[in-house]
Amino acid sequence: MPRKKGQVAINHKYCKRCNICPQFCPTSNLEIVKDKLTSYDRCIACFNCERYCPDLAIEVVKIYNVKTPSTR
Ligand code: SF4
Ligand code: SF4
Repeated sequence: MPRKKGQVAINHKYCKRCNICPQFCPTSNLEIVKDKLTSYDRCIACFNCERYCPDLAIEVVKIYNVKTPSTR
């Protein structure tokens, strides 16, 4: 299971639940549940959803690993 590397913010006002972003998410982190786009904790911050959303309804924030700041 991939580590959580990103945090997704969904603007439910803009999201029209077109189901595009779930199809581009490599970790199946996005799903439309009961007519609402839902995100889980599998985001790897690939930014696909943000790139492909036609309505600018989803934003990704990268989470940095604070445990090993000196290793790259
Ligand atoms: S950034 Fe990538 S992994 Fe994260 S929710 Fe969007 S498509 Fe999925
Ligand atoms: S692509 Fe955008 S509008 Fe479509 S379901 Fe995803 S967030 Fe909502």
